[in-house]
Amino acid sequence: MLHPPAAPDDASDALFGLDALSPTAPDPASGAGPLFRDSAAARRLLPVRQIHAEPAAAASPRGRQVIGRFPDARLIEVDSHWRIPGLHGNEGNVERWVRVKGETLVLGEKKTLTTRPNGRSADWIAPGPSNGCALACAYCYVPRRKGYANPITVFTNIDRIIAHLGRHIARQGPKPEPNQCDPEAWVYDIGENGDCAVDALISDNTADLVHAFGQWPTAKASFATKYVNPDLLALDPRGRTRIRFSLMPADDSRLLDVRTSPIADRIAAAGDFLDAGYEVHFNFSPVVVRPGWETAWSELLQHLDDVLPERVKRQAAAEVIMLTHNRELHEVNLGWHPRAEDVLWQPGLQQAKRSQNGALNVRYRNRVKAEAVDTLRGLVAARTPWLRIRYAF
Ligand code: SF4
Repeated sequence: MLHPPAAPDDASDALFGLDALSPTAPDPASGAGPLFRDSAAARRLLPVRQIHAEPAAAASPRGRQVIGRFPDARLIEVDSHWRIPGLHGNEGNVERWVRVKGETLVLGEKKTLTTRPNGRSADWIAPGPSNGCALACAYCYVPRRKGYANPITVFTNIDRIIAHLGRHIARQGPKPEPNQCDPEAWVYDIGENGDCAVDALISDNTADLVHAFGQWPTAKASFATKYVNPDLLALDPRGRTRIRFSLMPADDSRLLDVRTSPIADRIAAAGDFLDAGYEVHFNFSPVVVRPGWETAWSELLQHLDDVLPERVKRQAAAEVIMLTHNRELHEVNLGWHPRAEDVLWQPGLQQAKRSQNGALNVRYRNRVKAEAVDTLRGLVAARTPWLRIRYAF
């Protein structure tokens, strides 16, 4: 069994190069068949026309891989992936919000590699392989730091990210006792600021992380997704990657989860992902309180009970996350998707809380939230009694 490298975390050199991380994504020449990411459906989601790139990121092996995948895209040099004039923080992009997400990519290097404690969904939040997303969920908090349009930034120094993680995992040693994150492994969320299944349409960053965690016996990767990318089935996670399919009633998803895979497809994929060696959990997230929400969730849970194979049920667990929202995002959404705000912005049910950076966040009032969590727990107990709720928040 391979153990993670144990060099000090402040070493800036990578412990192994990208070549050493293979096998990564399946190679069509290997006989595994064509990759989904080369299909017309994937190209429709990501018809990339311009790539903004830091020079070092463009010159890196991962950067060259991404640029090579989109040979018709215009390459634009930028000083920093954080400050791209005309792309980030530009209110004019609100009308083009969805187009920008599909037609634009950014290549950058992740400069600060920090793993933060979490304790809810995961033990640790890892430095992710990307920032931004090609999907366009109306409640998404990921764009909060880059302004309105936030297409995917691919971090090309994935070797350094993996080396950092290896050292962090080595320092922890074995997990001393079970907790709700996992009974035996330290769980690292690798997808805090994006969707790793979508990232896998662009580069091998997700594949490299899945492969690396497959070799670390004391740790487990975890990411939530709203996209079914069948290319991930060809990887070899060895039970060390937890994929969390995010679910909500299909009517809510059609309104709020713009560009994502249909809810029924996410549920139908669970058995395949388990058979491919993933652990499969579910995120009930976000739970949106609106007229009829209890009935809609009851039907969703009944559907889970009806269609999921027993082997999925035996290992499944779920997180429940009530909607939080934010005044800035509310105002942005009014510019491109006002119907979503009819259900997301409910001042009569929500209370405001000023965050440390001055943003005005809203969440359901304490009593509304407590009652909704109780209701959902009751529905789970009645419809899917096999489903352990890891936490409700
Ligand atoms: S899939 Fe996740 S990261 Fe992407 S837009 Fe939706 S909530 Fe945001």
